[in-house]
Amino acid sequence: MIDPQRALQRIYDQMALGPRYVGSAGHAQMHALLRRWLAGADELAEQCFDERFFGQRVTCRNFRASFSGTLNERWLLGTHYDTRPWADREFDLSAQKLPVPGANDGGSGTAILAELCEELAKRRERPTLDLVFFDAEDWHEIDGKEVSLGARRYVEALAEDTRPDRVLIIDMVGGHDLMLDVDVNCQLHEPSFGWTLGVFQTGHALGLPCLSLKKPHPYKWLGCDHTPFQMAGIPTALLIDIDYPEWHTVRDLPEACDAASLQQIGKLLEALLFTGRSPAP
Ligand SMILES: [Zn+2]
Repeated sequence: MIDPQRALQRIYDQMALGPRYVGSAGHAQMHALLRRWLAGADELAEQCFDERFFGQRVTCRNFRASFSGTLNERWLLGTHYDTRPWADREFDLSAQKLPVPGANDGGSGTAILAELCEELAKRRERPTLDLVFFDAEDWHEIDGKEVSLGARRYVEALAEDTRPDRVLIIDMVGGHDLMLDVDVNCQLHEPSFGWTLGVFQTGHALGLPCLSLKKPHPYKWLGCDHTPFQMAGIPTALLIDIDYPEWHTVRDLPEACDAASLQQIGKLLEALLFTGRSPAP
């Protein structure tokens, strides 16, 4: 089972490296931590690509931990592990150029999928699965960059034999009082709409409060690492709570995260992956 306390500890482990934005010292150390955490996969692959940030060429790196499975489907579960270089939602101007610590934004999805990696190594009945940790997600509107640079590169390089049948992207799922949003872009692609609906219905059937849509405005237009997959015609769903109060501030710290939230996401993933009752896209 996915252990929420261990997942929370993995957030602290990432925080000990400092901010992990592309080109930082913590970013390089994060690569070593991911290699250690993902060592139990059947195969670990790294996709490198160069990008220029403020005139400097930097090598970015997506990680893919693959498991062969017994079910006749290939799934991709993804998250970004990089953190945002600027806390540009800070009210105080002097804080806006400080890096985001990224406990939740970058840290929580990485923690959950690293936990899942260990769990998968113990399971037999499972779909063929790629756990993908994307780089360079969090540069949108900084240095003229778009969001999700790593996920875009990943989709561009997809080969027929690694093309997933469905995709689930996880980001910012560790905050207190987690309440997920629905990206209404899924309405533009019937299989993504069906898969998103199925994921939320699964969570509802499990009685998980975070999928109950009980917030004033849960339906939003969101762009994240799932977008390039949906654009490529692959059924995708997104798990995110964009109303995290510490989003893109220097207060995105472990104290703002909660094992109870991580536990709900863990239960949802286990139900989707291991019960054999996953909704069709
Ligand atoms: Zn972000």
